[in-house]
Formats: sequence, structure tokens, C-alpha cells
Amino acid sequence: MQIDYQTIELRLRHTFHIAHGASDTRRNVILRVGDGLGEAAPVAYHGESAEAVTETLAGWQAELERLDDPSAISWLLQRCQGSRAARAAVDLALHDALGKRLGCPVYQLLGLSKLPLPQTSFTIAITAPDELAARVREAAAYPILKVKLGTDRDLDIVRTIREVAPHATLRVDANAGWSVQQALRLIPQFAELGVELIEQPLPADDFDGFRVLKRARLPLPIIADESVKAPADVVRLADAVDGVNIKLMKTGGIQGALAAIQTARSCDLKIMLGCMVETSLGATAAAQLGGLVDWLDLDGPLLIANDPFTGLRFDGTRITLPDAPGLGVTPRTGA
Ligand code: MG
Repeated sequence: MQIDYQTIELRLRHTFHIAHGASDTRRNVILRVGDGLGEAAPVAYHGESAEAVTETLAGWQAELERLDDPSAISWLLQRCQGSRAARAAVDLALHDALGKRLGCPVYQLLGLSKLPLPQTSFTIAITAPDELAARVREAAAYPILKVKLGTDRDLDIVRTIREVAPHATLRVDANAGWSVQQALRLIPQFAELGVELIEQPLPADDFDGFRVLKRARLPLPIIADESVKAPADVVRLADAVDGVNIKLMKTGGIQGALAAIQTARSCDLKIMLGCMVETSLGATAAAQLGGLVDWLDLDGPLLIANDPFTGLRFDGTRITLPDAPGLGVTPRTGA
């Protein structure tokens, strides 16, 4: 099949400030395999970059060009070891190409028709105190907010948001920004403010710290995100957290995500399905699996000013999947 890949620069609607740092743009890689489209959103905390993804794809190019059967996804991924974001691009492009060849949407190929999708959250990144209320009002169409924390004023941030949006469902994501002591102090206070769950309170490798929080029987479920670097981490975290945030870019695509979801369920863990800053291509691919999880966090396209694709549709936090064959994603005209 014919192969093409290119790096695109995504402009963010607002500077994206989280505990790891701040950025105004992201560079993702779009892969075309035959008529299938895939996306790689490099995961900075895995040491990935658009350049490294491109280099990895160049190394796999000959193998991809020899392939004429898009259903050989597992076979090909066994040969394409390396960057998980690059593997995700390959996995997505082949699922898309396969669906298009068979004339059916990917969720049908996977046997996931008719499952209702949870509503997605909308991210409120770390914002200057004098701009926070306006940013929350701007998000009035989104009744589920995911609040990025990891500052020295986290309680004030959540109090302000709760005042401005008294009825919103609030989830908080500390992006590894707290110590065990901070988590033990803050989480009960967030429960009083009606927060629904806490994501990644502690540094990624602090599994013992997570176990301390678990033993403290805190009033809110704790979901691991950065701690889940690979599907095997789901098992390692099973006795330390209440749930895991699974992302296509961490699992290397749809096949890896399905395996991680099944593993998490067999470990009795709750599941959030999230995304990096991804276009409608990556987010639509993730949404194909949305019926299998408890919480969706697929607002990537809503954070981007120049999304080059159309696919899933948002009505506030409600997501509708396209019913076109494959992923159902189309390049925007002129993009
Ligand atoms: Mg997170």
C-alpha cells in the first residue's frame, strides 16, 4: 500500500498550562496507508517527539509498502516495535483502511455497535486567577469539566470553579503534581466541593504512594494516567488505584487499547478513555471504543484552533460517532 506521512502543527485555542509545563502548539504526525488515516500524538513524558515518530515510521516504511491486506494489523504491529505513538498511527490507519475496504465503521468491525457512549469531559487548563472565572463561563456548554491542578493554589482554583459552575460535574487532574501528604489533605476537601474523581495525584513511579492513598480510604476514586505507560502497568497498579486512564497513544492504538481495557476490567478497575492533544482523527478513533469505558475524556479536538479533520461530533459533552466506513474521518477542505 502507498505510504505518506507528514508532521502538522496544531495551534491551541488557549495556552495549555498543566503541571508538566505550558505550550501554545503541538506537533503531531499524520500517516496515510493506502486510503487509511492514522495519527501519532507524541507523548512528551515518554520521551517522544514528532521527529522521533517520523524517523520510526521511515524505518517501517518498506514493511508498510509491502502490505496489501489491511486486516494484517497484529502481524504488522509485531514487526513494528518502538514508539507507541508511531504504532498507534499504524494501527489507526490500518483499522481505517480495513473498514473502508469492508464498507463498515470500525466500531462495527470490533463488535461494539449500539453501546452508549459516556459524555466527555472538557479541560480547564491551569489559568491565571483573574482569568479563571471567565474561562469557566466560556465553557458553559460543557457540563463535565476536568480541572488541571498541581499548583500551590489548587483548593482556590476548585472553589472558584465550583462558584462559577455550581452544577457542573468536576473531575480534577493533578498531572503528578502532589505529594502523598498534599493528596491526603486535599482530596477530602475536594470531595466536599462535589468533585467526582482525582486523576494522577502523585508522580508516575510512586506506586507505593498510591498504595498509601488507597489504604487511607479517601472519599474519591483515584485514577492513574501518567503511571500507565504500557498495558502491563495496569496489572502493576491494580491494588494501588481505583481506575486507569487508557489512551491510544500509550497503548499503541486500538488493538493495544482493547487489551488494556480487558486487563483493567479483569483487575476490577474503572476505566477512563482519554487522549493527548489530538485532532478529530485520533479522538474519533478513540471514541470507537467509548462504549466500553466508564468515563470519556476526548476533548482534544475542542482545544485545537486548526483541526484539519472532521469526524466525531460534539454537542456540548455528548459525542456522536460518524457512521461512515472506517474511522469516518475526513480531511477538512482546504486543510
Ligand atoms: Mg491526565
